[in-house]
Amino acid sequence: MPATCSACGTSPAALRRPKTGHALCRACFLAAFEEETHQAIVAGRLFRPGETVAIGASGGKDSTVLAHLLQLLDQRHGYGLRLLLLSVDEGIAGYRDASLAAVRRHQHRSGLPLHVVSYRQLYGWSMDRIARHLGPRNNCTFCGVFRRQALDRGALLMGADKIATGHNADDVAETVLMNFLRGDVGRLRRGAGAGPAGGEGAVPRCKPLRHAYEKEIVLYAYFQGLDYFSTECVYAPQAYRGYARALLKELEAARPSAVADLGHSGERLSLRSDLRMPARGTCQRCGYVASQPLCKACVLLEGLDRGLPKLGIGKHRRLRDKLQDGQPLTQEERRRLGALAEEEPPEEQVPLGELGRDEELWGKQELRGPRDLDF
Ligand SMILES: [Zn+2]
Ligand SMILES: [Zn+2]
Repeated sequence: MPATCSACGTSPAALRRPKTGHALCRACFLAAFEEETHQAIVAGRLFRPGETVAIGASGGKDSTVLAHLLQLLDQRHGYGLRLLLLSVDEGIAGYRDASLAAVRRHQHRSGLPLHVVSYRQLYGWSMDRIARHLGPRNNCTFCGVFRRQALDRGALLMGADKIATGHNADDVAETVLMNFLRGDVGRLRRGAGAGPAGGEGAVPRCKPLRHAYEKEIVLYAYFQGLDYFSTECVYAPQAYRGYARALLKELEAARPSAVADLGHSGERLSLRSDLRMPARGTCQRCGYVASQPLCKACVLLEGLDRGLPKLGIGKHRRLRDKLQDGQPLTQEERRRLGALAEEEPPEEQVPLGELGRDEELWGKQELRGPRDLDF
């Protein structure tokens, strides 16, 4: 590593930037990272003056850096935003309770208002209770569907015009890879944009850190001394994002620009215009955005409440339709669902799910600190 910073030419370099390879001192790195985020916000027209922005705050590094930066840049550049912290409590003992404590510490220091919405309060089910009914697999499917809706509901409750999430360039690249491999054109079309176009939810979303490399977010948090929580979710992951993530890390090792390039590819993909996209309607039961008579969360809840938790997963459409119409299932159909109601075991005898990675951003395996990086 060269002895002096390549930007100011005076201070000793403290790191080599993962994104560009430049050797920089601490002050020049922080300044560059902040300015790039500001430029991304301006170029993407992410916010308008006077808007109320709910920052999805998980207590992890991405959303902690996001909340810190938005507050700093709003003051520095006069965006005129009303910033709020919005957290989702999934009800995962040993994980979310600890990360919410980090959010509360951030709230205390920053003075930003905080609102917490919980699965228990919104759906009547905590993730720990869902996991006891469901077993070790598929928990992330439930959690992802419920979290998306919970963020929307919390944002509406707080009167927010927009939700800002901490998705970074690595997350965007992984998602592009996964959607491409699955041929999921709906998500490819919606997914790569920075916002504020919205997506499938009720409140428009944006990702101000979508061009920021995960490694640089870790470095920024470290050099700013930000206090965040980094432990993996206790529930087993859906493996597919893990493979996309591993593949991306290999590509990045060979060529650091691969992370940004994949994000750009996702934005530039043009899809055939005659592809049929699902129509957007509203859920008959809860009024949330839905392309079917019931939204995904209500279908999953229907299964849980009937003691058939796997109803919402996989290819059970005919059974789902029957249940939604209130028709009884035959013995054979109940057997096929393979998840007949069992007595819920008493609380204290139930072990937590297997240790593993959450498919979703908030619980995924994280770089814990700069020691995980080689620079
Ligand atoms: Zn410098
Ligand atoms: Zn619904």
